[in-house]
Amino acid sequence: MSDVLDCAASGFVPHDLKCDFLVIGSGCGGGTAARVLAEAGKDVILLEEGGDFVGPDKLSQRDTPMYDQLYVDRGGRTNKDRTVNILSGRVLGGGGVINACDVVPIHDATWAYWQKHHGWHDFSATAMQPYVQRALADLSANRILEQQINRNNQILRQGTQALGWRGEVMMHNRVKCQGLGSCLIGCPASAKRNPRMVAIPKALAAGARVLVRARATLIRDATTDRKRVEVQTLDAKGYHPVNRFAIDAKCVIVAANPVGTVALLRNSHLGNDQLGQHVSLQPQVPIVALMADPVNAFEGIPQAYAMTEFERHDPDHGLGGFRVESIFGTPGVLGSLVSQPGAAGKTLMAQLDHAAASLILIPDQPVGQITLRRDGRPEIDYTLTAEWKARARQAVRAAARAYFAAGAKMVVIPAAPPLVLQSEAQLAQVETLTFDAATISLISAHQQGGGRLGTSEATSACDLNGQVWGTRGVFICDGSIFPSSSSSHTMTPIITMAHALADRLASHAS
Ligand SMILES: Cc1cc2nc3c(=O)[nH]c(=O)nc-3n(C[C@H](O)[C@H](O)[C@H](O)COP(=O)(O)OP(=O)(O)OC[C@H]3O[C@@H](n4cnc5c(N)ncnc54)[C@H](O)[C@@H]3O)c2cc1C
Ligand code: SF4
Repeated sequence: MSDVLDCAASGFVPHDLKCDFLVIGSGCGGGTAARVLAEAGKDVILLEEGGDFVGPDKLSQRDTPMYDQLYVDRGGRTNKDRTVNILSGRVLGGGGVINACDVVPIHDATWAYWQKHHGWHDFSATAMQPYVQRALADLSANRILEQQINRNNQILRQGTQALGWRGEVMMHNRVKCQGLGSCLIGCPASAKRNPRMVAIPKALAAGARVLVRARATLIRDATTDRKRVEVQTLDAKGYHPVNRFAIDAKCVIVAANPVGTVALLRNSHLGNDQLGQHVSLQPQVPIVALMADPVNAFEGIPQAYAMTEFERHDPDHGLGGFRVESIFGTPGVLGSLVSQPGAAGKTLMAQLDHAAASLILIPDQPVGQITLRRDGRPEIDYTLTAEWKARARQAVRAAARAYFAAGAKMVVIPAAPPLVLQSEAQLAQVETLTFDAATISLISAHQQGGGRLGTSEATSACDLNGQVWGTRGVFICDGSIFPSSSSSHTMTPIITMAHALADRLASHAS
């Protein structure tokens, strides 16, 4: 098996790089596509602009260096009106390296919705079952064990059950997890069965060449037999350009996460007017409860239990409702969410060991757009709808009720000003949450859309094989392709679709 090639290493000057399939972006979509194509005997190069981070020496469990090295824009990307903090990975293995490991496949009702309303005729729940199984096998999907559920997650479960509501212990892709709790800044114990641990080693073993600190900047000749992709190499920390080279490829597969994919295609003057449209951010609302006894939520698996009572799967409208999922992060992230300044914020942070926390996940309609600024950087225009805001208030009430039912002394929504509820009797105050710009920091971990896959150029950005309309052999294979929110979590849906699309490519492209 060849090693990952680090373009930041001194003396790295590639010449005449050629391949049949050039995959850009090594996350859930790109990593999987590279592996499937390489195992089918294709000549594959996989490009990744992030670095390669494996093991305790590189994954240090420290906020500052890990956000700096593992996240796009150091974790600071937002939409235009700054209501949503848009998080995604920038590392070999993409979002799989820094995600919370929840495994949630696409629901039958969502497949049915896409078939009925978006022309996804080839992708029925039944036809996709083999690909779902392949994704679950890649992820070594398994149910989190009772003894792995920490007190933070037990509190949400206790409250949910006290109210007689439905919930579930989630499936995950951890094997031999040591409960270190730093999943969102990488797993030093290599317990995550993510693309870095599964698809990429398999791609390498099958002969793929994998380059890190290599950013694709331009796709040329997109309508000819051979494309030329310009690549910028980066320094060891990934922030300064070092060198340039080009790769000659028969097919180019763009899998750079919705924002990166749209930006690269637009900068290359590719795509129709649908490219960049129909973007879903699936914003999540943070909620914190202060308990009488220590919770120590930073110990153990951060996200294990979900309240699912209000989630809706509907073949006529797609995914709706909301779900509440326990979560905890490292102190730096939690500190950034505490909206009380000065002494009040310090007091809250001093009680961190008594805090339980969740993210309320509220699937949205794909109302966003990704465009380019004058400097070529992407801009995400996304405005929360009135319907989403109403659902969010309903969701906050439900989550707060569950925490009070579990014995919370206080529930805080980190808005500006913060909403502090002392008891269930104050729940009506939730109606004061406006979700207006600069009043709240929502979190997006599941960006989807922008490169919608469909049957017609009038309504989609690529055809049912993922080929970008107007090109010959330029494909999209990541979270961009979904017509609407695919699931409450996107890793499994993206790996599922990457298997299906890469199989098609392997059999159709000679
Ligand atoms: C904090 C967090 C927690 C999450 N938790 C979960 C969870 O528990 N369960 C779940 O199912 N999902 C979760 N997700 C979502 C899931 O991880 C992502 O949806 C998924 O990784 C996206 O896959 P992708 O292939 O679209 O892109 P990514 O996995 O983001 O990969 C894209 C890659 O492309 C690279 N790239 C971009 N532009 C270029 C370029 N021009 N040249 C070269 N490389 C480029 C990027 O550096 C990146 O590594 C989470 C996400 C985050 C951020
Ligand atoms: S909780 Fe498990 S998966 Fe997360 S960082 Fe710790 S050992 Fe890794």
